[in-house]
Amino acid sequence: MSDPSTPESPGAAEETEPSVLTETRGPVAIVTMNRPRYRNAQNAEMTWALDRAFQAAIDDDAIGCIVLRGAGPHFSAGHDIGTPGRDIHKPFGRIATNWYPHADKPGAEGVFVREQELYLGMCRRWREIPKPVIAQVQGACVAGGLMLAWVCDLIVASDDAFFADPVLAMGIPGVEYFAHPFVMAPRLAKEFLYLGERMSAERALAIGMINRVVPRDSLGDEVLAMAERVAARPRFGLALAKKAINQAEDRMGLRDSIDATYGLHHLAHAHNSLTSEDHLQGQDPKSMAKALK
Ligand code: ZN
Repeated sequence: MSDPSTPESPGAAEETEPSVLTETRGPVAIVTMNRPRYRNAQNAEMTWALDRAFQAAIDDDAIGCIVLRGAGPHFSAGHDIGTPGRDIHKPFGRIATNWYPHADKPGAEGVFVREQELYLGMCRRWREIPKPVIAQVQGACVAGGLMLAWVCDLIVASDDAFFADPVLAMGIPGVEYFAHPFVMAPRLAKEFLYLGERMSAERALAIGMINRVVPRDSLGDEVLAMAERVAARPRFGLALAKKAINQAEDRMGLRDSIDATYGLHHLAHAHNSLTSEDHLQGQDPKSMAKALK
């Protein structure tokens, strides 16, 4: 979702700033989503820019840890469902999967293939980055934004951060990277989905979904200090530790569970397409913002 309160000027489609910025601070690469006007709503262009930024950090031997953050007051309002830069029908290459191009495919096929590559595939690809990644979360971390934070190794949030997956309001049983019953207890995951309410940073910490909560003003400094400490550890050891935890999660069923739910997710998209004006039930950032309490 994007910011429904932002007026859209005729020139709003012309985004002159890059959608992703990168900088390095010693051994730390900082990757910043940079569409603050739209609460960093994630379109395909930004997704690919993120992937390029991550790849550069992976390839740079001087980098020991990566930070993912969002410019402005919010981390991410999720996938782009209504900004002028929305690009769902534009073609893009394939890097996370070997699916064929989606843009000219009718019906459920185009949506299924697009999300397989852009959302599920890319999230899995980023989860497997062989260097530690820390999500630095402030403000909204909503729907597709959750996926970005969840595939990071550590999540540090400011005290004003909140987490929510309101897509059940579209009839969809949660976002594409369905890690919900793994990042929180199953009963909490049901509450999270059924109610679609905001979960505070404090509650997210209490249930173990995130690592730390810090004051908003010191968020950047705290994350950088943590990233520097992580980056000082042996590179290969970190990569192996990450692999060990990730494969344990997969043995607990994460990967299979996400694959199974991906089918249900696309049954919902197809049902929406058959019964309403589009695969999102005709919802836009404004209507979804209303659904999010
Ligand atoms: Zn979807």
